[in-house]
Amino acid sequence: MSLQDITARITKAETAAGQPAGSVKLIAVSKVQPNERVQAVLEQGHRCFGENRVQEAVGKWPNFMEQFSDIDLHLIGPLQTNKARQAIELFSTIHSVDRPKLAKTLARLAQEMGTCPVLFIQVNTGEEDQKAGILPAEADAFIAECRDLDLPVQGLMCIPPVEEEPSLHFALLAKIAERNGLVGLSMGMSGDFEQAIALGATHVRVGSAIFGARVKPEE
Ligand SMILES: *Cc1c(COP(=O)(O)O)cnc(C)c1O
Repeated sequence: MSLQDITARITKAETAAGQPAGSVKLIAVSKVQPNERVQAVLEQGHRCFGENRVQEAVGKWPNFMEQFSDIDLHLIGPLQTNKARQAIELFSTIHSVDRPKLAKTLARLAQEMGTCPVLFIQVNTGEEDQKAGILPAEADAFIAECRDLDLPVQGLMCIPPVEEEPSLHFALLAKIAERNGLVGLSMGMSGDFEQAIALGATHVRVGSAIFGARVKPEE
């Protein structure tokens, strides 16, 4: 696959879902990809990228940002509170707000720094022990808490369990978002972004289908 192929498939899925072409944001997930591959996608004109670790992103993106303007970076992996300041400085959007302590830290830093990324709350729709995210039963209360903190929450994010039908999880996420009046839905990866768009995704996070298999294992 290539960036062009994925973009064409997204357009088709948007049309099938009755959405205007170009309405779904494609986040090209560049974690652990060699810089040459990232550079190639930048040269094709794509500007929206996702990273799952602050440290890795801080090491890799400032350089690209000098070469290319308008880069739009999204943090899609877990955020430790001690990295929150760096995350606010680098990312336009954080998709992994998943606990009260992090929400409070972001609110305090946003006050102090006078800026805050767009935020998505991660929901652990599969209720998996090893996965980050607020449990579905606690989502409404947590969304309210984030709003009380004046955080700019735009939507929800999920990563469905590998062994399960992703559509069930996408539908659950869409339902929680709707009843809370949230418009953003960050869902869908290389294997299931078309299903996610059918269920209302506004942001899809696609890595290996654009860049090829990740060469280094994920930590
Ligand atoms: C790695 C990652 C992706 C992209 O996964 P692919 O299967 O390579 O498309 C999407 N979302 C998150 C949170 C990830 O960590």
